[in-house]
Amino acid sequence: MRVGFSIKKIGYPLLVPGLLIIASCFMVLWWPDLVKNVGDAQKAGALLELLPVLPYAVFGAGIIMGWRYSNTGMILASLAMALSYGCLLATGAGPGITMGAGASVLLPLNLLLFSLLTKRRLLTSFGMAALGALVFQVLAVWIFCEPGISDLTRTALQMSPDLGKRLANLQANLNALFNNPGPLGMDHLSILGQVIFCWSFVIFIARLYFAPDQLATGFFGALCAVFIGVSMGSREAYMIFFSTAGLILLITSIEASFSMAYMDELTGLPGRRSLNETMLNLGKKYVIAMIDIDHFKKFNDNYGHKTGDQVLKMIATRLGKMGGGARTFRYGGEEFTAIFPGKEIFEALPHIEKYRQDIENTPFVVRSKGRKTTTANSRGKGPAPTSKRVKVTVSIGVAEPTKAMTKPEQVIKAADKILYKAKKSGRNCVKSLSSSEQP
Ligand code: GH3
Ligand code: MG
Ligand code: MG
Repeated sequence: MRVGFSIKKIGYPLLVPGLLIIASCFMVLWWPDLVKNVGDAQKAGALLELLPVLPYAVFGAGIIMGWRYSNTGMILASLAMALSYGCLLATGAGPGITMGAGASVLLPLNLLLFSLLTKRRLLTSFGMAALGALVFQVLAVWIFCEPGISDLTRTALQMSPDLGKRLANLQANLNALFNNPGPLGMDHLSILGQVIFCWSFVIFIARLYFAPDQLATGFFGALCAVFIGVSMGSREAYMIFFSTAGLILLITSIEASFSMAYMDELTGLPGRRSLNETMLNLGKKYVIAMIDIDHFKKFNDNYGHKTGDQVLKMIATRLGKMGGGARTFRYGGEEFTAIFPGKEIFEALPHIEKYRQDIENTPFVVRSKGRKTTTANSRGKGPAPTSKRVKVTVSIGVAEPTKAMTKPEQVIKAADKILYKAKKSGRNCVKSLSSSEQP
């Protein structure tokens, strides 16, 4: 179950990043031919001058989009990738502690950190602290990477030989860290870079497994893209894979806003907008079931709104597993809809009845801390937690198109009317109107 759930939650969002990365790999492989095909050497030269600007355009779009969607993670990740790309173009990724090598070591850490800020605004303490961390890194790369560190060591040697010696030592140590191709035998990524990228992959995968998150999946896709780009180590690989990383962030952000508009946040089921769209695309044969929780107002009054929300989640989770090809939605409040495209009522009814029985036979466990009694509390002993099993039931109205009623809006209305009948006849039951019965 857990694996299936995770594949759905992580696998689908990874599809677009995966395809983009594969397309980028082909593009890098074909790059020499693509350039040759331009034919005219002057034109090819002009194109090659212009193309490296492309990733900056993508990152610019990422910053604007991040700002519009209050997604600080996206703003800062786009900024960090733009800076790293600039450093890599300027100096390459080594050997030695070049700006590109420093930036490619810091980039995975930045992507990890900024993936935690996708729901934060920039002008908050979290946003400002993260921006501060990025500015600090820019200064660190400027001072401790070449040519900054050499200039600094030279100046320090003139002013104070002792400080100069220490800086020269630091420079030698940093160079050692950044020179070794490391255990993976990569020529273009330092040992430190290899270790940090590997750790970032492990942390991302663990995080996405235990807490699937569409936006964080985009950051993971971007991490994969920049890793391949940095490992290949050519200017065109930087250009293509950094553009891809920026695009992945943009696309996952659009996808996340799309699902936010179409999905109900509390239950995780598609919402009303999605239902309307499905109704527009139904064929001639289908079944609609309207499901309503019985006496839910009373339940909320007795056990509180939060517990009521838990019940809605439970009802929705089970509804999602209704079977029979049902597409399920939260209609609104405590009402849900199931649509069976291409089915007739006699085919859908067994699944609907099974669902009703399933809800009836699964008591909901309400945990409460018990009533506060002044005597117990004054002695520092909280009330003992108690749990109670409460029966939750649903009433369901089912309808299908008839000669007189062909439109899905009419069928849904009819299902709602029959639901009312189910309520009137004692609740916790399924009532239906098949095409053989006229309304
Ligand atoms: P009936 O059996 O006739 O359907 O009675 P009912 O009490 O379920 O129906 P009614 O329409 O009177 O009340 C619906 C209740 O559903 C009222 C509202 O507090 C509750 N409700 C709607 N949306 C939510 C929600 O998102 N969370 C919680 N906890 N309650 C909700
Ligand atoms: Mg209702
Ligand atoms: Mg109700």
